Amino acid sequence: MANPQVLLADLNAGRCSNVAEVRLLRYWEARNVRKGGELMSVDMLFVDENSTLTQGSVSANRQLRFRKRLSEGSLYTLTGFDVTRSNTNFRLCDAPFSIRFNEGTSLEKITASARPIPTELFRFMPYGRLLELANTGKQLPDIIGELSAIRSTITDRIAGAQRVMLTLRLESGENVCVSMFDSLALAFHTKFDSYGREPKVIIATGVNPKIVGGRLFLNATSSTHLYFDSETAAGKKLFDTLPGHGAVPGESTSKVVHAQKIEPMTLSELNQFIITAESQIIEFLCTAKVTGIQQDEGWCYIGCSGCSKKLVREISSFTCLSCNETNAVAALRYRVALSVSDNTDTASFLAFDTEMAKLTNLQASEAAQIVGIGVDAQVDTELPQSLADIVGKTYTFQLKLNDFNFSSKHQTFTISRIFPERVLAPMPAFVVTEDGTVPADAQAGDLPHGTIGNVGITSTGADKPTTSDASTGKRPPPAKDQDDDDKTAPKKAHVE
Ligand SMILES: [Zn+2]
Repeated sequence: MANPQVLLADLNAGRCSNVAEVRLLRYWEARNVRKGGELMSVDMLFVDENSTLTQGSVSANRQLRFRKRLSEGSLYTLTGFDVTRSNTNFRLCDAPFSIRFNEGTSLEKITASARPIPTELFRFMPYGRLLELANTGKQLPDIIGELSAIRSTITDRIAGAQRVMLTLRLESGENVCVSMFDSLALAFHTKFDSYGREPKVIIATGVNPKIVGGRLFLNATSSTHLYFDSETAAGKKLFDTLPGHGAVPGESTSKVVHAQKIEPMTLSELNQFIITAESQIIEFLCTAKVTGIQQDEGWCYIGCSGCSKKLVREISSFTCLSCNETNAVAALRYRVALSVSDNTDTASFLAFDTEMAKLTNLQASEAAQIVGIGVDAQVDTELPQSLADIVGKTYTFQLKLNDFNFSSKHQTFTISRIFPERVLAPMPAFVVTEDGTVPADAQAGDLPHGTIGNVGITSTGADKPTTSDASTGKRPPPAKDQDDDDKTAPKKAHVE
């Protein structure tokens, strides 16, 4: 005899042997980014005749049994599963309980149901609600809007730089930015390329609202699915309201803005990138104003005159570990932490000797003297006027992000080059005006690479300190930074 039916809203914690008749709306893989992307589970979203949304999950070791049966949009009978309390964070539905597949779970596809089960269900939220949810990690709402811009680094196929930003105009008029990184960015482009034309309406499900630098970003998550134009009834409804159903005769303006190979970013985008993207080595351009010199760790260190690495203080000498020299000749080197800001956010940038010497036209050894040797060495660390003078000026910085930038403890970005403002940087990037158009200077094409070297200041990457700040006796920089630098920084980076 068949087990009795159960509605999703009536589920109670424990094992359920009743039968739920549901539609599988979406499924996706949940991976652990901290364990090399290891598959944790296949998660899914069900809906029943009462439009109750409920999340389901099958663990990695069981998912193969069910995987081939999963078909988005299909109807199923589901029985013999565990009912557990829903996670209170990153919610895709409001149901208090979730479904977990166990070894006895039966999931059978059915071709039709006597029950009118919705074919789609989205959790669109008004702009004000998105703002309320931002940075809370509580809800992953769905979003629908008219596409006004696509910015992407993926068309360049740069390894590790997959990034797509969609600007969507909500029906209420606000513009929001949906950002996708790495595999999600790839998935977008796969769909985009196969679609054959540029969509006018995009639905993105399960996005995580975040406010960075005063701007609302909707970050795609592993649960994010994208639907174009009339692929959904909700999308079609909006699509049909657009002038000429979105296909204005004679209109051929592409919404795609190709990004530069080394991409300009605002500070808020940079700060957001290190929070949301997977760890990677990547370079960006950032135009920002120097608002101050951070002096709590000094502006210089005692380096090796040969290799510029930080010297170890001995009783009556300096040792350079890098040169294996126990009687190294000392030279004062810049290590300057800059407070910077643009109109989106603030950040800390770290500049080393080569860049600072060129920027100020003054060697560190001309700005201050090392008096004494070894443990007795002293340096007048009062801020030189040449450094104080750069406060208030705006430059375009090329920043190299290493893995350690993606851990929250390392929010200082190392400068690899400094350019005069706007010599090469079409800024600001990823900015959309009130009416949803992209400013002309944000649409500049690829920068000829050779021009960078002509105006830029090049870092050899060899003047990074290695041990404690000898000039001030302050604590050493975290050792991991240096390890990463040594592994990843070419000895003569960016000489063009
Ligand atoms: Zn040395």
